[in-house]
Amino acid sequence: MGLNVVMMGPPGAGKGTQAARLARQRGVPKISTGDMLRDGIRDGNSVALEAKALMDMGQLVDDRTMIAIVQERLSRSDTAHGFVLDGFPRTVPQAEALDAMLDARGQKLDAAVAMSVPEDELVRRLSARRECPVCQRAYNLETAAPRDGRHCDDHPSAELVQRADDSESTVRRRLEQYWSKTAPLIGWYRESGRLREVPGLGPLDDVYRSLTQALGCRA
Ligand code: AMP
Repeated sequence: MGLNVVMMGPPGAGKGTQAARLARQRGVPKISTGDMLRDGIRDGNSVALEAKALMDMGQLVDDRTMIAIVQERLSRSDTAHGFVLDGFPRTVPQAEALDAMLDARGQKLDAAVAMSVPEDELVRRLSARRECPVCQRAYNLETAAPRDGRHCDDHPSAELVQRADDSESTVRRRLEQYWSKTAPLIGWYRESGRLREVPGLGPLDDVYRSLTQALGCRA
């Protein structure tokens, strides 16, 4: 049986890292709308380029655009046995659209995971966050540094970079957007019995164990 999951949480909660591990373990795609937009910008895709200004300011991209992107992605055959969505939905209309898309395929969303981390820790984590410009592997200079402190372990000539929207003022804007637009989804999913809450503090392995327990699957 497939597992259809969405990962929610403020920026810096670790949802991308945990989503990647869960997807790998279950053999299903991890679908990150932020990564899709950043890939699109690199490839010169016009929709993604239009979204770039909003992303750089830490604002959400409009629901119509995001819903269309996810609808196209979920129509590909690799999602037939499940998916882990990372960064979508971020608003109640996006969540409603996701339910409708799955309903049309005779599927449902099994769980919405909300990862929680205190705000001061989020700002600290985001300012230490770096990624490989080649493979987008995530690092953290404080907690998950690369072997030589500067370059990707898998691409030794690639110096790690900071995401444009990880600067402190943009991080604050992204957190504001999270609390005003995305946090209401937590109550929305709780009402339909699909919410699973996972504390995002502590060693990555412990967080992962809590996640798999909350989903009722093996770690
Ligand atoms: P992320 O990598 O998930 O933090 O996303 C980076 C940026 O992409 C966000 O700050 C938004 O500008 C945009 N974005 C990604 N996913 C969504 C979404 N589901 N709804 C609106 N904007 C999004």
